[in-house]
Amino acid sequence: MIKKILVANRGEIALRVMRSAKEMGIKTVAIFSEADRGALHVQFADEAVCVGGPKSADSYLRIEKILEVSLDLQVDAIHPGYGFLSENALFAQRAEAVGITFIGPSPASIDLMGNKLAAKAAVANYNIPMVPGTKEAITNITEAKKIAQEVGFPILIKASAGGGGKGMRIVTDLGDFEEQMQLAVSEAVSAFGDGAVFIEKYIGSPRHIEVQVLGDKHGNIVHLFERECSIQRRHQKVIEEAPSSVLTPALREEMGQCAVNVAKACNYIGAGTVEFLVDENLNYYFLEMNTRLQVEHPVTEQITGLDLVKEQIKVAQGESLSFKQGDLKIEGHAVELRVYAEDPRNNFLPDIGKLVSYKRPQGPGVRVDDGFEEGMEIPIYYDPMIAKLVTFGQNRQEAIDRMIRAIDEYEITGIENTLAFGKFVMQHEAFRSGNFDTKFIQNYYNPELLSSPPAQEEAEVAAVLAAFLYKTTKPKTTTTFAATSVSTSNWKKNRSQL
Ligand code: ADP
Ligand code: ADP
Ligand code: MG
Repeated sequence: MIKKILVANRGEIALRVMRSAKEMGIKTVAIFSEADRGALHVQFADEAVCVGGPKSADSYLRIEKILEVSLDLQVDAIHPGYGFLSENALFAQRAEAVGITFIGPSPASIDLMGNKLAAKAAVANYNIPMVPGTKEAITNITEAKKIAQEVGFPILIKASAGGGGKGMRIVTDLGDFEEQMQLAVSEAVSAFGDGAVFIEKYIGSPRHIEVQVLGDKHGNIVHLFERECSIQRRHQKVIEEAPSSVLTPALREEMGQCAVNVAKACNYIGAGTVEFLVDENLNYYFLEMNTRLQVEHPVTEQITGLDLVKEQIKVAQGESLSFKQGDLKIEGHAVELRVYAEDPRNNFLPDIGKLVSYKRPQGPGVRVDDGFEEGMEIPIYYDPMIAKLVTFGQNRQEAIDRMIRAIDEYEITGIENTLAFGKFVMQHEAFRSGNFDTKFIQNYYNPELLSSPPAQEEAEVAAVLAAFLYKTTKPKTTTTFAATSVSTSNWKKNRSQL
């Protein structure tokens, strides 16, 4: 039995994992970097250990240091969360080697599915539909050009080791091929330490629909239905929902079974996600498998009533799944908005700084998974996600209406964020009707359409005005003058970004 878990992660996902552990009576250990000393996951854990400097490489990615802490504090298991070491086969292997349970699949499954080409080869025997393209890494340019022409432009050059939407290049005609390929290779080398790239047909207007799977150590594998994740920027998800509004029960069953087969192909254990692209004729194609808990897992939890982290822990300690495929059903509808510290008025570029004010929405059907409090700084070193706002309703309409209400109730000032963008999407006809794809932002989004100015600006205008009135009615002091000039310059900064 697992009695103590070290969570090798930070922020909202570390907290989310610890909450489930706590409900199961399991003790928790947090690790943190020097930048995260005051973080909520550090406060929540039973024990917490600093593992190094702010950069991920100096802290959250230090395999041996994390294992040393785990051994010192006698933890039984490590939960890697998502990002960081979650898809690092060496980490899983080293943990098992020192006698600590890795809460996730085997190192072999991670290794296989971490490589998009190897994954495609592994599932080939299961009759899984795939996007046309090359089956092996491109080594010969002439050969690759020939294949690109056969597949038909536009094509996508993708890094086999890619992730997080990085390492992809669209090539629209043969003349650009060589240059784009060289760029793709060098990007892949610097981002993933692996220059292997391959060709996939570029599907013009696909939906991204993925299936959650769960397997135990006794050979049982089920799927927990799908998530629709087509609202993306930079090939990375911002809004997700479950279930998808386009799948029929028959197609859901078929894709679910297909995902289970992908999991079987790599002897999958634990929670994983099989990603598909779905075209306008509802043909679906296997894209990749993510061998970890996914950022958007809460929408699946809301519609199935399961706690995926608890399921992961139970599987890791050898329990059999307590349900069969036929026991599972979808109830209601859930939507998630990733609240990123990014400026939707300026190309979704990351914005950092202090959460000057921060008030979470509440009430029926609202779940906020976050890792910050008012007054905290969002560090520049890590992923800029502030929170995940999840709403749940009896049906899609209710979940969307709740999301709009929750966004209105959410107060974040001091940092640009994706709340107003989320509201834009929720109110947009294409999203409401369910008729949208991964080109949503490109097709419909324009920052000028955001309904309200950033809350920060209103607050700062008020501050400037208050300071001005104060100045004109009271004798000047250095403090007020300083405060005024800071506000004014911030205010100008925001104006210029509109
Ligand atoms: P999901 O598919 O679960 O939504 P994302 O692609 O948004 O996952 O990534 C989840 C987290 O992991 C993010 O913090 C992202 O920055 C990080 N991430 C995922 N893959 C990689 C990768 N290959 N390299 C670096 N970071 C990654
Ligand atoms: P990552 O490992 O970075 O998550 P994926 O292969 O899962 O990479 O692709 C991420 C996103 O990129 C998809 O959700 C989709 O929007 C886009 N994409 C990937 N492959 C294709 C393709 N062949 N055609 C069109 N879009 C694609
Ligand atoms: Mg993906």
